[in-house]
Amino acid sequence: MTQTLNRIQTSDVIPDSTSVVIIGGGIVGVSAALTLAERNIPVVLLEKGHIACEQSSRNLGWIRKTSRHLDDIPLAMAADELWKNMPERLGQSVGYQQSGILFLADTHEQLEVHDNWLKSVESLDLDSRLLSKDDIERRVPGSERPWAGAIFTPSDGRAEPHMAVPAMANAAIAKGATIIQNTSVRAVNTSAGRVSGVYTEAGEIKCEHVILAGGAWSRRFLGNMGVSLPTLPVVCTALRTTPVDGPSDIAVGASNFSFRKHRNGGYIVTQRGALKAPITLDHLLIGHQYLEALKYQRSFLRVSFGKEFFSDLCLKRRWKSTQKPPFEKVRIHNPPTVTSLNNEAMANLRAAYPIFNNVDIEEAWAGVIDITPDSNPIIDCLDTVSGMTLATGFSGHGFGTGPAAGQLAADLAMGTTPLIDPKPYKFSRL
Ligand SMILES: Cc1cc2nc3c(=O)[nH]c(=O)nc-3n(C[C@H](O)[C@H](O)[C@H](O)COP(=O)(O)OP(=O)(O)OC[C@H]3O[C@@H](n4cnc5c(N)ncnc54)[C@H](O)[C@@H]3O)c2cc1C
Repeated sequence: MTQTLNRIQTSDVIPDSTSVVIIGGGIVGVSAALTLAERNIPVVLLEKGHIACEQSSRNLGWIRKTSRHLDDIPLAMAADELWKNMPERLGQSVGYQQSGILFLADTHEQLEVHDNWLKSVESLDLDSRLLSKDDIERRVPGSERPWAGAIFTPSDGRAEPHMAVPAMANAAIAKGATIIQNTSVRAVNTSAGRVSGVYTEAGEIKCEHVILAGGAWSRRFLGNMGVSLPTLPVVCTALRTTPVDGPSDIAVGASNFSFRKHRNGGYIVTQRGALKAPITLDHLLIGHQYLEALKYQRSFLRVSFGKEFFSDLCLKRRWKSTQKPPFEKVRIHNPPTVTSLNNEAMANLRAAYPIFNNVDIEEAWAGVIDITPDSNPIIDCLDTVSGMTLATGFSGHGFGTGPAAGQLAADLAMGTTPLIDPKPYKFSRL
């Protein structure tokens, strides 16, 4: 969680019954709650920590179509429309700006990857295009690195995570949703193969539908139900600088750093070319499902074996509804900041854009992301338990699509016409 996360006041009264229970108060669960409340469907969202306490407040705030898989772009396009309308829908700003996203290429080979992506999405008529060195200098001036070119999408953008999800949650409450914080859902109750309620740590709630939007905890929650969800945890680390008259409003990614302007005048920076992957039992159990992805992404991972393996091993994989589940023991997943990666990011950024020699680090944090084997989420009804819908596994890029993903999950749960074709997000593909 970044220090600036807006905290909200919610109810602590557990109702006896509702129509839909949502597990998880990240952007996906909150967006589903907002959608359902707007449709006058009784909904209760339970969050074991506080709203947006895990990934949804720790992300960089990038909202992009660029470099997404072709199948994943309709969801991102639907999300763009929802982000645009968000101030009107919520009655307040969430810092959304369509200020563009630009990925720099060091070599012609890297530029060719962008060109191939452009060709693969030609049918969608996006505003993405390649930029020459001169175009780059015009849009993001002051670089000392000899770029080969870049890809630029003017209609991509950003929002402020610390504002967005709390504002969406407040609007959901105003429209009739019940949101309860500091209360975990321990298990789903079923009757004749159908959802009949949930057991929370504060008592039972009867309901007909459950949406599981539990982020990195969804695998363990479903594991306790005998369902194997293939997601693996990886740690992403980030920092915010002191204010600076920086090179651009555009969010910029290079091979070994990224930056985007924060509304306080500083920049949010990350080491784009590296993620920390502390080995856990799950990596050993299902790592083989990621071999195809590893062919291309192995160089991104800083794999380590250490205390995370043993602390994870101590967390239960099976529990009864009367017992404390692992996510009450780790109420908020708060991995330590990876200072070495942040220092690398700043050194690479300063070498490329010397203007950043004038800044200090104001804040640093890390978050655990939940990665599926094909890096696309699962938004689907669970075959084995009627009434249960999954919206999880957003693989490090679910903030941007979050508003649309939550709405799609609400559509699927209630059997209404889906926002977009949900086929790319079926569980069975994995
Ligand atoms: C450092 C970092 C940078 C990122 N940058 C970007 C970016 O720029 N753009 C982008 O699109 N994405 C980005 N992401 C990814 C993005 O943040 C996530 O994909 C997105 O927030 C996922 O939302 P979620 O609602 O699925 O999960 P989460 O935000 O993790 O929410 C899940 C919630 O469920 C709660 N929960 C779990 N189990 C239970 C239970 N049993 N009972 C009650 N509550 C429960 C958890 O406490 C948690 O709050 C980044 C992530 C990180 C960590």
